[in-house]
Amino acid sequence: MSHFSYKNGVLHVENVALNAVSQQFGSPTYVYSKAALVENFSAYAGACQQHSPATDSTLICYSVKSNSNLAVLQLLSRLGSGFDIVSGGELLRVIAAGGDTRKVIFSGVGKSREEMRLALSHDILCFNVESIPELHRLNEVALGMGKRAAISLRVNPNVDAKTHPYISTGLKENKFGVAYDEALACYRSASALSNIDVVGIDCHIGSQLLDDAPLLEALDKIIDLVNQLAAENINLHHLDIGGGIGITYDDEKPVAIDDYLSRLFTRVNAWRQAKYKGAPIKVMFEPGRSIVGNAGILLTEIQYLKHSEAKNFAIVDAAMNDLMRPAMYEAWHGVQTVAQRGGQAQIYDVVGPVCESGDWLARSRSLAIEAGDLLALMSAGAYGMTMSSNYNTRGRAAEVMVDGDQMHLVRQRENPADLFALESLLA
Ligand SMILES: *Cc1c(COP(=O)(O)O)cnc(C)c1O
Repeated sequence: MSHFSYKNGVLHVENVALNAVSQQFGSPTYVYSKAALVENFSAYAGACQQHSPATDSTLICYSVKSNSNLAVLQLLSRLGSGFDIVSGGELLRVIAAGGDTRKVIFSGVGKSREEMRLALSHDILCFNVESIPELHRLNEVALGMGKRAAISLRVNPNVDAKTHPYISTGLKENKFGVAYDEALACYRSASALSNIDVVGIDCHIGSQLLDDAPLLEALDKIIDLVNQLAAENINLHHLDIGGGIGITYDDEKPVAIDDYLSRLFTRVNAWRQAKYKGAPIKVMFEPGRSIVGNAGILLTEIQYLKHSEAKNFAIVDAAMNDLMRPAMYEAWHGVQTVAQRGGQAQIYDVVGPVCESGDWLARSRSLAIEAGDLLALMSAGAYGMTMSSNYNTRGRAAEVMVDGDQMHLVRQRENPADLFALESLLA
């Protein structure tokens, strides 16, 4: 995380000291580095440009659910990104951020009629359809609007992503996509529907993958299916391999994005050469975590230190409602003190004020700290703010985007009174 470093003993995001962020905006606050976001997106865009330079032969659809702040979407949109959405609400965010709806793909197993209508009215690029009943519903909704819906089928390639079971999605027993063995039959029924245009194929096998071998295995299986479909005269315009590349939280060594894409395009280009003289099939990606994960931290202030016989606790003003990943997946986030101080380090659990034993952010960390100190929970840019809640009637954290020596408040801290503004008393 080179955009997060100590200068004169104080942790900085780019050229802004984190204590300056808390002085101006308070805590807890999510802080993002614009330069890190640009760098991570550019790793994908640069590799696509290098290995597949033909116009419109690749598209990166950033996964909005990983971090959906409007400023993040706006920045990525300006860099040319498309978007992978999983709800109508996310589509409205993309539009509000100035994103191009013709670069939007819509994933998810439970799309409602209303969400389908919204997406059709904005002429999105493609629906990633996850079941036959969804296909029929989409056809019906499109027919009712006098529109055609472009679809891709999310195929479940049945490969083991070797990641946490909660974030593994490509095995037979997962709820996502249509089974590999049923894909051909599904495509045949899809191409017979009156208001459906079959345009693509997609998969997404899991998240926080450190190795690209499962992704390349999935790619081979998908290419096989595209060939079988072509033999039946069902010709696809794009192939979407999903997201899933992991990041370093602790000492993980994820595959580098350019190495993965270089291996992927070696296979894809050999196949394109053999099969698609002229216009090559478009290759799409849906990265989330690998773009935003290491571009953000959660800044928090220590309220109390509690020393007991069994354990020491640092009770901070951020909690599981702000950063759910430790409670949900036992996820590990680095903890760094904002001001490096001398003194005796002790072993602490870093916990929040929420009334749950599951409300911990980090366990057994060696820290030299005092009440009032600021801490940074590292690698919190992905699935941090987007998974936050108002549990315990806690307003959500503020969000700040740092750009060089500038800080921009990109989301105000929530006011607790707003949290119950939609509620009413009985007559
Ligand atoms: C969550 C999700 C992604 C993004 O996954 P990352 O691991 O964050 O890259 C991509 N596609 C789909 C369908 C998803 O559900």
